[in-house]
Amino acid sequence: MKKYDIVIIGSGFGGLICGYLLSKNGYRVAVFEKHYQIGGCLQTFERKGVTFDTGMHYVGSLDKDQLLFRIFKYLGLLNDVKTHRLDTNGFDHILIKDKEYKFAMGFENFADTLSQHFPDERKTIARYVSDLRHFSSVSPITGQGKNFYNEFLSRDSLKTGVGTYFDSLTDNLPLQNVLSATNMLYAGRRNKTPLYIHALISSFYINSAWRIVGGANTIASSLRKSFEGFGGEILTNSEVTRINCDTKKAISITLKSGEVIESKFFISNTHPENTLRMLDTPLIKRIYRERISDVGNTVSNFALYIEFKPNTTPYLNYNIYRYNNQDVWDCATYTEKEWPKNYIFMHQVPVNNGPFAESGIVIAYMQFNEVAKWSETKIERRGEDYLQFKERKKEVLLQQLENDFPGIRANIKNVYTSSPLTLRDYTGTKEGSMYGILKDKNKLEQTFVSHRTKIPNLFFTGQNINSHGILGVGVGAFITSSEFVDLEKDIREIF
Ligand SMILES: Cc1cc2nc3c(=O)[nH]c(=O)nc-3n(C[C@H](O)[C@H](O)[C@H](O)COP(=O)(O)OP(=O)(O)OC[C@H]3O[C@@H](n4cnc5c(N)ncnc54)[C@H](O)[C@@H]3O)c2cc1C
Repeated sequence: MKKYDIVIIGSGFGGLICGYLLSKNGYRVAVFEKHYQIGGCLQTFERKGVTFDTGMHYVGSLDKDQLLFRIFKYLGLLNDVKTHRLDTNGFDHILIKDKEYKFAMGFENFADTLSQHFPDERKTIARYVSDLRHFSSVSPITGQGKNFYNEFLSRDSLKTGVGTYFDSLTDNLPLQNVLSATNMLYAGRRNKTPLYIHALISSFYINSAWRIVGGANTIASSLRKSFEGFGGEILTNSEVTRINCDTKKAISITLKSGEVIESKFFISNTHPENTLRMLDTPLIKRIYRERISDVGNTVSNFALYIEFKPNTTPYLNYNIYRYNNQDVWDCATYTEKEWPKNYIFMHQVPVNNGPFAESGIVIAYMQFNEVAKWSETKIERRGEDYLQFKERKKEVLLQQLENDFPGIRANIKNVYTSSPLTLRDYTGTKEGSMYGILKDKNKLEQTFVSHRTKIPNLFFTGQNINSHGILGVGVGAFITSSEFVDLEKDIREIF
C-alpha cells in the first residue's frame, strides 16, 4: 500500500500551490485529481485548434513587484506563464443601458477617467479610490499566517457590507452602479458581500490588468512541472470517494477504483460539503455538517465560446461588462423573459498576435434550477432536450450580443456552450457555483470556513476558505501550507 506524508484531494490552483510549497519543503506529497486534466477552473479545452479558457480569464497586479507578480515569482511561474497587458486607459468597459464607461489602470488614472463621465462627482470618486486603497491594504486576507482565521474574524472591515458602503459614499445611483459594475468578478450580493471583497478585487485589477496568453492551463502546467521536479506525484483519473478515519484522525483515502492510500496528513481542495460527504466519522459533528451544508453558494453561469472567422473581428484589448438595466446588483435572479440581465464579453489574446480576434467568451449568470432536471445525467450524455435547452439559450445570448455589437454574428464561425452542469461536473462545485461559498457579512462564522477542520490532520484549501480567484486561492494556499512549513516570513514579504 502506498503511503505519503501529505495527500491532496483535487488539483485546482489551491491544491497545486499546496503541492508546490510542501514538496519543495521536503514532504512526500501526492495530488489526486478526478479528471484526466489537472487545474480545476484553470482547465482549458480545445475545439478545431482553438483553445478556450473556462474559469480564469484575466488577472491583476502583475506589473513588476505588484502583488501577483510577487506570488508568481515565488512560485516560479514568471517564465512559463505568458501574459498580455490590457488597455491602460480602459481595461474594463462598462455598458449600462446605452451609456459606456471605462475603468483605467492606476488609481489616479481610474479616478480621472471616471470623473470625465461624472464631472460633478470628482470628490466622491477621489474618496472612493482612497477608500479602495485603504480597505484593500487592511484587508483581512493579506499578511496572515496559520492563525489567520481567528485574526480574520476579528477584523472590523469584514462587517461592513458593500451596499452599506456605497450608500454612505453617494446617493448618485448611476455612479454607485458604475463603481459596482464588475461585481460579476465575485458574484456579489449588495446586502451580503463584505466591502473588503469588492475593495480587494477592484484594487487588484486597477493596479494592472492582464490576460493570460495561450490559456490559464499554463499556470497549472508550470506548477505541475515544478511540483514533480520536487518529487511530488499527480494522479489524474483518480477520484477520491472516502476519507477514512480511526477514532482520532484521518488515516487514508479510498479512490473510486477501490485503491486505498495511506498518508499522515490530508488537504482537501474541493468544496467543504463534498469533503464532508467523503467522511463517515463521529469526529465530524452533525452541527458542523449542518453549518457547512446550509451556507449559500455563489450563482452559476452559462457561457458561449466563440471562434471568429479569420480577419473579421478587430481584437478588443479590454473586457465588456454589459447591463441591460440600471441596477447592476440585481442580475442573478431573473424570469425567462429577462435573461440575461447582464453578461461579460472578453476576447482571448490572438495566438498569432495579429489585430483580429480569433476567439471570445461570453458569460452570463444562470441559476442551477434551470438545468436541475438533467442533474443526474453525465457529460456528453444528457439527452436531446438538454441540447435543445442549450441551443435556445445560445440563441438568446447571441441575439443580445448582436444587439450590442451589430454585425458580430456574421463573423462567427463556431460557437460552443457550457451550462451550470458543465461547471459542476468539471470542478466539483456545488450546483456549478462559480466561486463556491457566498461570503456573507451577516453570517461571518458560517460563511468564512477555516482551513482547519474538526479532524486534526485534515485541512481545507481552495476558493471556499478565505476567498476565490487567483488572489484569494493563492493566499489561502499559503495559509493552509503554513500549517506544515514556517512561511510566516515569506507571507509577510509577499503579501
Ligand atoms: C466562469 C469562471 C470564471 C472565472 N474567472 C476568473 C478570472 O478571470 N480571474 C480569477 O482570478 N478567477 C476567476 N475565476 C475563479 C477562479 O478560477 C477560482 O476561484 C479558482 O481557480 C478555484 O481554485 P480552487 O483551488 O478552489 O479549485 P477548483 O478550480 O475548484 O478545482 C478543484 C479540483 O478538485 C477536483 N476534485 C473535486 N472533487 C474531487 C475528488 N473527490 N477527487 C479528486 N479530485 C476532485 C476537481 O476536479 C478540480 O480539479 C473564475 C471562475 C469561474 C467559474
